[in-house]
Amino acid sequence: MSVPLKDESLFRQQAFINGKWIDADSGRKVPVYDPATGKEVGMMPWMGAAETRRAIEAAERAFSLWRKRTAKERAAVLRRWRDLILLHQDDLAQIMTAEQGKPLAEARGEIVSSAGYIEWFAEEAKRTYGETIPAGNSGQQLLTIRQPIGVVAAITPWNFPIQMIARKCAPALAAGCAVVMKPAPQTPFSALALADLGQRAGLPDGLFNIVTGKAGEIGDEMTSNHIVRKLSFTGSTVVGKVLMEKCALTVKQVSMELGGNAPFIVFDDADLDRAVNHVIASKFRNAGQTCVCANRIMVQKGVYDDFARRLSERVRGLKIGPGTEDGVFLGPLIDDRAIDKVDDLVKDALSKGAKAPVGGAPLKELGAQFYAPTVLTDVTQNMQVFHKEIFGPVAPLYCFESEEEAVSLANATRYGLAAYFFSQDVGRVWRVSEALEYGMVGANSGTLSSEATPFGGIKESGIGREGGKYGIQEYLEIKYINMGFD
Ligand code: ADP
Repeated sequence: MSVPLKDESLFRQQAFINGKWIDADSGRKVPVYDPATGKEVGMMPWMGAAETRRAIEAAERAFSLWRKRTAKERAAVLRRWRDLILLHQDDLAQIMTAEQGKPLAEARGEIVSSAGYIEWFAEEAKRTYGETIPAGNSGQQLLTIRQPIGVVAAITPWNFPIQMIARKCAPALAAGCAVVMKPAPQTPFSALALADLGQRAGLPDGLFNIVTGKAGEIGDEMTSNHIVRKLSFTGSTVVGKVLMEKCALTVKQVSMELGGNAPFIVFDDADLDRAVNHVIASKFRNAGQTCVCANRIMVQKGVYDDFARRLSERVRGLKIGPGTEDGVFLGPLIDDRAIDKVDDLVKDALSKGAKAPVGGAPLKELGAQFYAPTVLTDVTQNMQVFHKEIFGPVAPLYCFESEEEAVSLANATRYGLAAYFFSQDVGRVWRVSEALEYGMVGANSGTLSSEATPFGGIKESGIGREGGKYGIQEYLEIKYINMGFD
């Protein structure tokens, strides 16, 4: 690490299997780079199927004991984990910013919110109620109990290196499951630091394993191994579909948090200042690299010019730079591929008549992976940016005339994760909330996620919900018991 940590032992460059810190069988390691500087942060083990299989077998052994612990005992370990995460939040934030690029304040926010998920599910562990069902015949008691699914495999992306793990692993562990997880290759060190703290908190050996390395090989073992009963994945729709197909062969349950193409609709009757503030938060957080980022900003004709002017003014003032620098609002993008994708989308839009009152190009002077916060106006449906998930700091503005048109444009996508709209008409707020085909709707709000609420999408954005009282159900099976008596 280029920045000294208060507790250097949190920076682990080995994987974590069965409670031990280990290298790949081959001894091979690959470097992880800082997206702000291009410098090496550290090396991670390049593991494959054999190590994954051993982690799954260790998880199976740990599961057989953990499931027998009371919910209260499991909750106590999870709460210690949450306390340690908060205690070490500065170091965790340094590690996260070094490998992911987001501003330190944002990294700290993510860590605090992850601790919130762990706390929440520690409590929910105690509320996994079954039910009694009125019997149709005398001499019968019918009831259900909820039991942990078993060994869970989890695959997470790089945009929220700790929160994505907390949202899957905390409910799984709280429910009594064991976990084998694969973090994204860009951000393994946050995951490994989290595992270190889990071990200190008292998670038993083998209960929470982290395998780093070859995505395809690790994924194939996870999806084909009979011991694994559930796969929880967050990432692209393309990879999610492949994993679902593979899980079908052993009939595993799946939870999928996939891509989005979020509309952000501003009606004539919106509070424009509020809408601008919220679009900044929704669009530019994490440099636009979240699956719920506003992707298509649709503005009604009567306020279009005013909104475009106000938004451009605000975006011009956003500070971009390395995440470690004070006051920075946006960091770099994750890699070269991300820069190329964003630049191609912007070039395509500009070539078809869009204008860029702010930004519109990479900021090479800051480093290879910085892209200027951008506003595009006069954007139309024939541009690629309408259809693709941008995953970068580009705000394309579309103009619409009627409510029907806005809703129909908003729904004209295979995705269905998050949608936002701004209006002060209470009838419209209800109408549009109901009509949007999305798993989550922000009505006069540009932010959605919290540990207390169900996060997830419909259509090709996924299956299942993380967070809230629903999150733990993803890791529980219902068992029906019919008790007969004389
Ligand atoms: P992104 O393009 O944002 O990196 P991906 O869907 O490619 O999104 O990656 C999300 C996670 O899925 C990462 O941990 C990545 O390594 C993993 N992944 C990618 N391809 C596969 C695969 N074929 N099998 C298993 N995991 C995969």
